[in-house]
Amino acid sequence: MVSKRMLELGTARSAIRELFEYGKKRAAEVGEERVFDFSLGNPSVPAPDAVNEAAIRILREQPELIHCYTSAQGDLGARQRFADSLNGRYGTVYKADDFYVTVGAAAALCCVFHALTCPGDEFIAFAPYFPEYEVFVEGAGAKLTVIPPEMEGFQIDFEALSEKINVHTKGVIVNSPNNPSGVVYSRETLERLAALLEEKSVQYGHPIYLISDEPYREIVFAGVEVAWIPRIYRDTIVCYSFSKSLSLPGERLGYVLVPKEITDADLVYAAVAGAGRSLGYVNAPSLFQQVTSLCCDLTADISIYEHNCNLLVSELRAMGYHVVQPGGAFYLFPRSLEADDMAFCERAKQFDLLLVPGTGFGAPGHVRLAYCVQTEMIERALPKFKALADSYR
Ligand code: PLP
Repeated sequence: MVSKRMLELGTARSAIRELFEYGKKRAAEVGEERVFDFSLGNPSVPAPDAVNEAAIRILREQPELIHCYTSAQGDLGARQRFADSLNGRYGTVYKADDFYVTVGAAAALCCVFHALTCPGDEFIAFAPYFPEYEVFVEGAGAKLTVIPPEMEGFQIDFEALSEKINVHTKGVIVNSPNNPSGVVYSRETLERLAALLEEKSVQYGHPIYLISDEPYREIVFAGVEVAWIPRIYRDTIVCYSFSKSLSLPGERLGYVLVPKEITDADLVYAAVAGAGRSLGYVNAPSLFQQVTSLCCDLTADISIYEHNCNLLVSELRAMGYHVVQPGGAFYLFPRSLEADDMAFCERAKQFDLLLVPGTGFGAPGHVRLAYCVQTEMIERALPKFKALADSYR
């Protein structure tokens, strides 16, 4: 016998993976240049040269720093450099001991949900949302409540949120810049959210933590502000990753930041460490703790994402697609041209356009395009998007 739920999770492929596999099969049939795969959020720009140079230098000169265990919560020097980087950018006074280094944002989120969850607890996410939240929250023994999307600009439907928060709400998850919409929450949205959470924390007599999932923090386009959320809402815990900002998804490096200002900070940090231990996540990869901490003020060349974004938004709008302008990340979340986004994605496949249905992100009637691809592929795909739109006329 094995766990029924784990068996389900291990055998049911995600819609994204399913499409990716389909794309590979189709490319073998008709040729790679004829398939337009917008399914996966795999960064298309290389990591900065400094990343590879740091890795090579450490391998050559400091072998004692790698291939070895570090402290369970991450190497002290690396954590201090993460703190220094944020302090330099945001004027904060974080210390090494506020950081728990993890295997990417996925592990950071799992550690936080496990750390915070007591029997009966609930977390809230806003659609459209990263579907793994369901798996992570449920895995920690809590319940995920989803707030339907605010359709104008994918900000927050505060009325719906206010109704859903209850005495069991332990935390609210935000992800800005957002996967899958690319939207960045405005300062006004975040201030309203902070005010509501403060009011509800008082009403229910316990803190409602804001879990800020920030793997796209640095991938933001001209003129758009990504506010430092812990400054706006005191009880914020940050989950970060270098997967996207440094184009290092395979190296699995991120962290949890538990600022000292949050309620019960020491208890929360200790519980995060306990969750890391219980999940077997201690000691993120040593080499990349060093590399990312030496390169954490750098960002991969995101100008290509901005160019791809602008190209797609203007061309798709001209064809009649409804698209909310993203402020960052590398996703676009247009409305599907029929209410049934699954049927729309099936029809898109007839044009060899691989798009992900919005239903899995909690926003039916939409599709996700990951435009972290070669610009030249987007240019070749545009006539296909036009033909797809024409097929509905
Ligand atoms: N959160 C969001 C919103 C994501 O899009 C992703 C990955 O795509 C993750 C978390 C997980 O990131 P990591 O690769 O660092 O585990």
